Amino acid sequence: MSEKENMPVRATGGCLCGSVRYVLRGPLRDVWACHCYLCRRLHSHHAAYAACDPADLEVVHNGKLRWYRSSPSARRGFCAKCGAQLFWDGKGSDHISIAASTLNEPTGVRLVKHICVGQKGDYYEITDGLPQEGGSMA
Ligand SMILES: [Zn+2]
Repeated sequence: MSEKENMPVRATGGCLCGSVRYVLRGPLRDVWACHCYLCRRLHSHHAAYAACDPADLEVVHNGKLRWYRSSPSARRGFCAKCGAQLFWDGKGSDHISIAASTLNEPTGVRLVKHICVGQKGDYYEITDGLPQEGGSMA
Protein backbone atom coordinates (compact mmCIF):
# COMPACT_ATOMS: atom_id res chain seq x y z
CA MET A 1 0.00 0.00 0.00
CA SER A 2 1.50 3.27 -1.12
CA GLU A 3 1.61 6.40 0.95
CA LYS A 4 -0.97 8.02 -1.32
CA GLU A 5 -3.61 5.39 -0.65
CA ASN A 6 -3.90 6.67 2.90
CA MET A 7 -4.67 10.21 1.74
CA PRO A 8 -8.33 11.32 1.71
CA VAL A 9 -10.05 11.36 -1.68
CA ARG A 10 -10.40 14.97 -2.89
CA ALA A 11 -12.19 14.27 -6.16
CA THR A 12 -13.39 11.56 -8.48
CA GLY A 13 -14.49 11.67 -12.07
CA GLY A 14 -14.55 9.95 -15.41
CA CYS A 15 -15.63 9.92 -19.02
CA LEU A 16 -19.15 9.58 -20.39
CA CYS A 17 -19.10 5.80 -20.81
CA GLY A 18 -17.21 5.08 -17.60
CA SER A 19 -14.28 3.32 -19.25
CA VAL A 20 -11.86 5.91 -17.88
CA ARG A 21 -12.19 6.95 -14.24
CA TYR A 22 -9.91 8.71 -11.83
CA VAL A 23 -9.38 9.36 -8.15
CA LEU A 24 -7.53 12.40 -6.85
CA ARG A 25 -5.83 12.37 -3.47
CA GLY A 26 -4.43 15.88 -3.12
CA PRO A 27 -5.26 19.52 -3.86
CA LEU A 28 -7.42 20.42 -6.85
CA ARG A 29 -6.86 23.81 -8.49
CA ASP A 30 -9.79 26.03 -9.40
CA VAL A 31 -10.98 26.02 -13.00
CA TRP A 32 -9.47 28.02 -15.85
CA ALA A 33 -11.33 28.44 -19.12
CA CYS A 34 -8.89 28.09 -22.01
CA HIS A 35 -9.88 29.76 -25.25
CA CYS A 36 -6.91 28.64 -27.37
CA TYR A 37 -7.46 27.34 -30.86
CA LEU A 38 -6.44 23.78 -29.92
CA CYS A 39 -8.80 23.56 -26.96
CA ARG A 40 -11.64 24.99 -29.00
CA ARG A 41 -11.17 22.48 -31.81
CA LEU A 42 -11.05 19.64 -29.32
CA HIS A 43 -13.76 20.63 -26.84
CA SER A 44 -16.41 22.01 -29.23
CA HIS A 45 -16.25 25.34 -27.35
CA HIS A 46 -13.63 26.72 -24.95
CA ALA A 47 -12.14 24.23 -22.51
CA ALA A 48 -12.53 24.34 -18.72
CA TYR A 49 -9.75 22.71 -16.74
CA ALA A 50 -9.02 22.14 -13.09
CA ALA A 51 -5.53 20.85 -12.32
CA CYS A 52 -3.52 18.80 -9.87
CA ASP A 53 -0.13 17.31 -9.12
CA PRO A 54 0.25 14.27 -11.43
CA ALA A 55 1.52 12.27 -8.45
CA ASP A 56 -1.85 12.71 -6.72
CA LEU A 57 -3.91 11.40 -9.63
CA GLU A 58 -4.77 7.73 -10.01
CA VAL A 59 -6.33 6.84 -13.35
CA VAL A 60 -8.30 3.63 -13.66
CA HIS A 61 -9.21 2.47 -17.13
CA ASN A 62 -9.78 -0.66 -19.14
CA GLY A 63 -7.35 0.16 -21.89
CA LYS A 64 -9.50 2.95 -23.32
CA LEU A 65 -7.39 5.92 -22.28
CA ARG A 66 -5.54 7.26 -25.30
CA TRP A 67 -3.16 10.20 -25.70
CA TYR A 68 -3.20 12.59 -28.63
CA ARG A 69 -0.17 14.83 -29.09
CA SER A 70 -1.91 18.13 -29.85
CA SER A 71 1.31 20.15 -30.07
CA PRO A 72 5.03 19.54 -29.53
CA SER A 73 4.59 20.64 -25.92
CA ALA A 74 1.41 18.89 -24.82
CA ARG A 75 -0.75 15.81 -25.14
CA ARG A 76 -4.45 15.26 -24.51
CA GLY A 77 -5.92 12.24 -22.75
CA PHE A 78 -9.26 10.99 -24.03
CA CYS A 79 -11.50 7.94 -23.97
CA ALA A 80 -11.23 5.83 -27.11
CA LYS A 81 -14.76 4.47 -26.61
CA CYS A 82 -16.93 7.55 -25.95
CA GLY A 83 -14.51 10.26 -27.09
CA ALA A 84 -14.57 12.29 -23.90
CA GLN A 85 -11.62 14.64 -23.35
CA LEU A 86 -10.23 14.20 -19.85
CA PHE A 87 -6.65 15.44 -19.47
CA TRP A 88 -4.13 17.99 -20.68
CA ASP A 89 -0.54 17.00 -19.97
CA GLY A 90 2.14 19.54 -20.79
CA LYS A 91 5.73 18.56 -21.37
CA GLY A 92 7.73 19.67 -18.35
CA SER A 93 4.61 20.97 -16.61
CA ASP A 94 4.34 20.54 -12.85
CA HIS A 95 0.62 19.85 -13.11
CA ILE A 96 -1.85 17.83 -15.14
CA SER A 97 -5.08 19.50 -16.16
CA ILE A 98 -8.40 17.74 -15.65
CA ALA A 99 -11.42 18.67 -17.76
CA ALA A 100 -13.82 20.16 -15.22
CA SER A 101 -16.78 18.59 -16.99
CA THR A 102 -15.50 15.12 -16.06
CA LEU A 103 -15.45 15.82 -12.30
CA ASN A 104 -18.15 14.20 -10.21
CA GLU A 105 -20.19 16.74 -8.25
CA PRO A 106 -19.94 18.44 -5.87
CA THR A 107 -16.64 19.49 -7.42
CA GLY A 108 -15.72 22.08 -4.79
CA VAL A 109 -14.03 24.22 -7.44
CA ARG A 110 -15.04 27.39 -9.26
CA LEU A 111 -14.29 28.96 -12.63
CA VAL A 112 -11.85 31.72 -11.72
CA LYS A 113 -10.31 33.02 -14.94
CA HIS A 114 -10.03 32.90 -18.70
CA ILE A 115 -6.76 32.22 -20.49
CA CYS A 116 -5.60 32.46 -24.10
CA VAL A 117 -8.39 34.95 -24.70
CA GLY A 118 -6.54 36.30 -27.73
CA GLN A 119 -7.47 33.10 -29.55
CA LYS A 120 -11.12 32.96 -28.56
CA GLY A 121 -13.77 32.30 -31.18
CA ASP A 122 -15.39 35.21 -32.96
CA TYR A 123 -18.89 33.92 -32.24
CA TYR A 124 -19.00 34.69 -28.51
CA GLU A 125 -17.97 37.25 -25.93
CA ILE A 126 -16.62 36.69 -22.42
CA THR A 127 -19.00 38.59 -20.17
CA ASP A 128 -18.69 37.10 -16.69
CA GLY A 129 -16.24 39.72 -15.40
CA LEU A 130 -13.58 37.17 -14.41
CA PRO A 131 -9.89 37.97 -15.06
CA GLN A 132 -8.68 37.43 -18.62
CA GLU A 133 -5.15 36.47 -19.70
CA GLY A 134 -3.70 36.09 -23.15
CA GLY A 135 -0.92 33.59 -22.55
CA SER A 136 -0.84 30.27 -24.35
CA MET A 137 -1.67 26.92 -22.77
CA ALA A 138 -1.34 24.98 -26.00
ZN1 LIG B 1 -15.59 6.69 -22.26
